[in-house]
Amino acid sequence: MLPRLLLMAALLCISGGARAWNAQGHAAVAAIAEAQLSPAALRQVSALLVGDLDRNEKSSGRKHLSEIASWPDEIRDEAVKTDPAAYKGWHVRSNQVCSEQLGACRDGNCVDQLIIRYAAVLADRSQPQRARNEALKWVVHLLGDLHMPLHSGVNRNGGGAKVLVTGMSLKPEDTFHTVWDGVLLNAALAGWTRQSQPVSRGRLAVDSPTQWMIETRDLARREVYEPLPGFSCDAKLREPIVLDLAYQQHSVAVIRAQIERAGLRLAQLLNQLLAD
Ligand SMILES: [Zn+2]
Repeated sequence: MLPRLLLMAALLCISGGARAWNAQGHAAVAAIAEAQLSPAALRQVSALLVGDLDRNEKSSGRKHLSEIASWPDEIRDEAVKTDPAAYKGWHVRSNQVCSEQLGACRDGNCVDQLIIRYAAVLADRSQPQRARNEALKWVVHLLGDLHMPLHSGVNRNGGGAKVLVTGMSLKPEDTFHTVWDGVLLNAALAGWTRQSQPVSRGRLAVDSPTQWMIETRDLARREVYEPLPGFSCDAKLREPIVLDLAYQQHSVAVIRAQIERAGLRLAQLLNQLLAD
């Protein structure tokens, strides 16, 4: 458990307001994965990043998964300047934590289905380099998003619920979702020394991303919502939802485990898709 003072310091020096599992979170997942890539997968990743383009279609010079991991957020931030609905729903799937029924996925554009679609492009050597390069960037990013509990599971309040975090002041626009994506994530990354674990060599099924999403939805119910006072499947929570210090400390452990899981699964997936 993180010492209380360290946690407070980490929480206080961080600004909120991120709209998605933030860039540091995605970079952490990608770095765990890259360290576990097979020689064949690493060779292909390097080849696919040759000539990589940034959000403005300029040469990015990026060579590592941690550097390209937030590209889908970057292009969305550009696109919404002219189309506020650009990429809406692509990084999440709003599965109710109290229901077995999965959330809507319009035109297949939601987190698990997009991973499945882009994984197929990435594995297909007949696809153009540019298509495979972008598929790699989507897979790396969305694997991270899918393991963020609130990207795979929501309760009746929805992600936009008003929130208070004991011991810190938030921005007026902060919500339960942005707090998990931003300040709690940053607290989890602060002072974290990972014990490296081996990546699984087991074969993945095509629908593994959906299974991981369902697991993350169930984890969201168990670890994110049920610890909140007054949680019930039958009613909305009273807002603002108050996250006390014990809840914050618990969330740090949950987020670290999810980052680790996402990184190892990303490595397993890339090793399979990019095998010789
Ligand atoms: Zn995202």
